[in-house]
Amino acid sequence: MTAMLATGGAGFIGSNFILHELAAHPDLRIVNVDALTYAGSLANLASVAQDPRYAFIQADITNQAAMSAVFTQYNPNVVVNFAAESHVDRSIQTPELFAHTNVLGTVTLLEAARQHWTHQDPAHHRFIQISTDEVYGSLPLDRPDLLFTEKSPLAPRSPYAASKASADTFVLSYRDTYGMPVNITRCSNNYGPRQYPEKLIPLTISRALAHQPIPIYGDGSNVRDWIHVHDHCRAIDAIIQNALPGEIYNIGAREEHANISLVTTILDTLSKLTNDPEISPRLIAHVTDRPGHDARYGLDISKIQHDLDWHPQIPFYQGLISTIYGNLGA
Ligand code: NAD
Repeated sequence: MTAMLATGGAGFIGSNFILHELAAHPDLRIVNVDALTYAGSLANLASVAQDPRYAFIQADITNQAAMSAVFTQYNPNVVVNFAAESHVDRSIQTPELFAHTNVLGTVTLLEAARQHWTHQDPAHHRFIQISTDEVYGSLPLDRPDLLFTEKSPLAPRSPYAASKASADTFVLSYRDTYGMPVNITRCSNNYGPRQYPEKLIPLTISRALAHQPIPIYGDGSNVRDWIHVHDHCRAIDAIIQNALPGEIYNIGAREEHANISLVTTILDTLSKLTNDPEISPRLIAHVTDRPGHDARYGLDISKIQHDLDWHPQIPFYQGLISTIYGNLGA
């Protein structure tokens, strides 16, 4: 039986992952450790709150004593570290918080795992670090042929991306120094149910429904590679089940869209669904571009496709429609 520690499970991706795992693996036990910052909500996990296979501990991953106590009480053999400050705009305002949570928090968890697992068989252990494609930096808009592979150099450009890249290097140092069985996932932009409304897709939907201006940085030409969160969750599960320890995997859906075209698509779709003529691209408000705004992310996902036979399954427009319906409460 697997005992899993998922951190940040009350957030967007972590909650989707816990729901996915409990549904997919009847024998699994999961303890969710989350500090419940502004981004976390236990309402995301209300449907499993009474499941005897699930437990919740409110704690901060930077708290060494609390993490050690979790390992002692639950003896997890798989750790999936989602807990992070995750919003780039906020990282520009408070970079120290991002270094504290994303770097120190990861090191604290790694150290708790190392100390707890020292006299156990590493074949049964795995530490999965949920990283991001943003650690690779930015691709030029005029070179759509370029993609990041797992071998691309780390070149983060925002404090958020720098904190995630730094955490990645600590994870790799635990692999190389202590032989810890780790994997790192670097996923592109996620969308889907329960995403906090500061992020582009739910922000656009909620503002449009309220007929409020929808801010777009600069001319909106920045390109992001979008993946439905359920496809991301299946990829993490495939890594836990079948990946060799030590490997890094890019995860994406090869669905690149400029922000402006994504927002326009959402507005057109919402307008038709609600029959509301006030929802239109006229709501778009171009605002001063974010400092250091990455132009484009694009991921080569052939490694996970080839090694683990994982493939994205949710077509972008279909996933977007279901996300819009979810936000409408339909
Ligand atoms: P989120 O902001 O929705 O959730 C983060 C969760 O972590 C929240 O529940 C929060 O309460 C918790 N948390 C924050 N600080 C904590 C601390 N010190 N101790 C314990 N818990 C803490 O984030 P998300 O979008 O679900 O992202 C999850 C992970 O996936 C992050 O590591 C992020 O870097 C990564 N990621 C996100 C995306 C994306 O598009 N959202 C893409 C690639 C990678």
